[in-house]
Amino acid sequence: MDFVYDDQNIFAKILRGEIPNKTVYENDHALAFEDIAPQAPVHVLVIPKGAYVSLDHFARDASADEQAGFMRAIAEVCRLTDVAAGFRAIANTRAHGVQDVPHYHMHIIGGRQLGRMLQG
Ligand code: 5GP
Repeated sequence: MDFVYDDQNIFAKILRGEIPNKTVYENDHALAFEDIAPQAPVHVLVIPKGAYVSLDHFARDASADEQAGFMRAIAEVCRLTDVAAGFRAIANTRAHGVQDVPHYHMHIIGGRQLGRMLQG
C-alpha cells in the first residue's frame, strides 16, 4: 500500500510551530498535546515527529528508535495524566476508522468510566 503524506495537515503545522498547542510531553521522536475538543477529563494526542499518515504506516516504516520513542511518550503521558484507573488508546484510521487528521496520532482518553468500546 502507498502511504501519501500531506504536509499541510494540522498536526504537521503544530510540529512546525505554525499552530500553538498545549504540550503534555515531548521527546526526540514524539509530541503529546491536549486535544482541542476533549471527549473526557484526560484527552491527549500522541503523534510521531516523522511524516506518517496512520498506525499501519508507522508500524511498517518507522525506525525502531522512532517506534520506541513514540511508545515511551505514551508511557510518560499515562504517568503525567495519572490514568492508573484506566484509559483508552484509539488510533482512528482512514475512512472506516473516521480519521480526520492524516498524521498518525494515538488518542489517550481517560479520567472517567468510558463505557463499552463500540456502540452498535
Ligand atoms: P481523528 O478523528 O483524526 O482521530 O482525531 C483528530 C483529533 O484532533 C480530534 O479529536 C480533534 O479534536 C483534534 N484536533 C483537530 N484540530 C486540532 C488542533 O488544531 N489542535 C488540537 N490540539 N487538536 C486538534
